[in-house]
Amino acid sequence: MDGIRHDSLLAANTPVMDRLSEAGVLLPVRVHEKNFTISGPVWATVATGVYMDQHGVEGNEEQPPGFAAFEDFTALLRAQRPGLATMIAASWFPLAAKTECGPLFSSGGWVNPVDPEAENSSESWIAADDEIAAHAAARLAAEDLAASFVYFGEGDVHAHNHGTGPGYTACIERCDARLGLLLDAIDSRPTRAQEEWTVIVVTDHGHLDEGGHGGDSDEERTAWMLASGPGLPDGIKALDHADIAVQVLATFGADHHGLAGVPFGQR
Ligand SMILES: [Zn+2]
Repeated sequence: MDGIRHDSLLAANTPVMDRLSEAGVLLPVRVHEKNFTISGPVWATVATGVYMDQHGVEGNEEQPPGFAAFEDFTALLRAQRPGLATMIAASWFPLAAKTECGPLFSSGGWVNPVDPEAENSSESWIAADDEIAAHAAARLAAEDLAASFVYFGEGDVHAHNHGTGPGYTACIERCDARLGLLLDAIDSRPTRAQEEWTVIVVTDHGHLDEGGHGGDSDEERTAWMLASGPGLPDGIKALDHADIAVQVLATFGADHHGLAGVPFGQR
């Protein structure tokens, strides 16, 4: 969920995330000092498990040629466990679209970008996020997906356009409902009783009150992560964006040597 402030999340009515955090953990995460508080660098860290000093992604539009050497966690997982299937679904095209400079998630995926003519309209982002949720839910219900990344972007766009007031809260609450659709789809699986699912929810950065990020204020640098699942350790005290790729690989017993993060519970 792009650009959701921690304090705004806590103030919003989010029954789905409340249920998850009661069974797991919800923690503020300070965007690592190696990363700018910009979507591209932080989502690249989520994807690859390394920071900007290694992946080199400093903005949203163009990735450096060296970024091609960094694969996303679904690609890293499938390289070690070729039998596993994964999914990426995103409404922001740099995450998954096969553009000239490559997507932030090297595997690419199903992208439902907003109409370029209306790319800053909140309405177009609501529609795009809704379609992403429907697409991902259908696949989670029907396919044997080992690991997935699903992205919702309307909150960030709204904050840029209108600040972090009541309309922003409504975005957070719609994203919570979309997450609920994904969890319902998982629970509808005929094989659900034999499966263990870990859910990680994360934002990439905060926002100034009036909207905007990229600086070093607490409002911009405070992100958060939520993690819930039967395989997670008790007593998780701290989490970091770089830990997500490591945790996914560790969950499947796959090697995560060389990544900057650590498995959940080791901070
Ligand atoms: Zn962002």
